[in-house]
Amino acid sequence: MKRQLILSKTQWQEMLDHVHRQVPLEACGLLAGKNDRVENVILVRNQAQSPARFVMDPYEQLQAFDWIESNGLDLLGIFHSHPAGPETASVTDIAEAAYEVAHLIWSWDQNRWLARGFWIENGRVTEVTLQILE
Ligand SMILES: [Zn+2]
Repeated sequence: MKRQLILSKTQWQEMLDHVHRQVPLEACGLLAGKNDRVENVILVRNQAQSPARFVMDPYEQLQAFDWIESNGLDLLGIFHSHPAGPETASVTDIAEAAYEVAHLIWSWDQNRWLARGFWIENGRVTEVTLQILE
């Protein structure tokens, strides 16, 4: 289980831009790295093209997994957005959490994007601290 994810400001912004561009649809992607430190943000197309759910494009996801492995990195997290909330993991997110990785959820809160990290295991959700390096 992960308690924290460490990201650079650039990686944070890269996710934010992607998430913002996809509105009103949910956006998604992968976070690759080592231990708790994210090294790469990989943007993945939401095949569902839906404002209420995401399904990673299977081809892009497979390519990303290959890339992560061939670069000696691990899959640390999956991120996706909730353009219409909630800021926590949804019932669907909990039911469909298939990998033992951190889940980073971007939600639109009034007039800004908010991101929170979660660990989802056996239907239980615990917070993962997101640390952004200056
Ligand atoms: Zn969700």
